[in-house]
Amino acid sequence: MSFKLPQLNYTHDALEPNIDSKTMEIHHGKHHQGYTNNLNAAIEGTELEGKSIEFILANMDMNNKAVRNNGGGFYNHSLFWKIISPNGGGAPSGDLASAIDNAYGSFDAFKETFSGAAKTQFGSGWAWLCVHEGGKVEVCSTANQDNSLMPGIGCGGTPILGLDVWEHAYYLNYQNRRPDYVAAFFNIINWDEVSARYQANK
Ligand code: MN
Repeated sequence: MSFKLPQLNYTHDALEPNIDSKTMEIHHGKHHQGYTNNLNAAIEGTELEGKSIEFILANMDMNNKAVRNNGGGFYNHSLFWKIISPNGGGAPSGDLASAIDNAYGSFDAFKETFSGAAKTQFGSGWAWLCVHEGGKVEVCSTANQDNSLMPGIGCGGTPILGLDVWEHAYYLNYQNRRPDYVAAFFNIINWDEVSARYQANK
């Protein structure tokens, strides 16, 4: 049993103009496929083979760069494709909206904090909204393909929203204009999916 590249729920061009078709094609078909293949190779014949990706991330040796980078890459991108949608945008409602208001005061203040985390993550990495047990939400960022499920990351809880700020995620269309890409991301966030993940992990 090995990990498989998840299919997208939309076509490569469905997120335009926010994310261009060529970027989607390469990002999903080449980068995410690469993380998937390399993860399978890294765990083959080890005690991690056959375990869930969540188990692998939570129990890994952080000095094992192949599992850390490719396990993170597999998980992070699998989440990313789900929390964006051609029908996304707007703002959350219900319990998630309340949790965001409790933590940040308002949706606009949250948006500013999250966007700041995405824009100031130096080099490659991710910006996250995570939920802790009990329902408190927290914005943070991580380097490379790390995420809060890994030991000792210092960015707690379960990721429910993530933004890939590697240059491979935006460079073809936005070049050095990461802030424009971050702003466009808010046009395609699938808040129904983020809320479902909030409910499942709070
Ligand atoms: Mn990526």
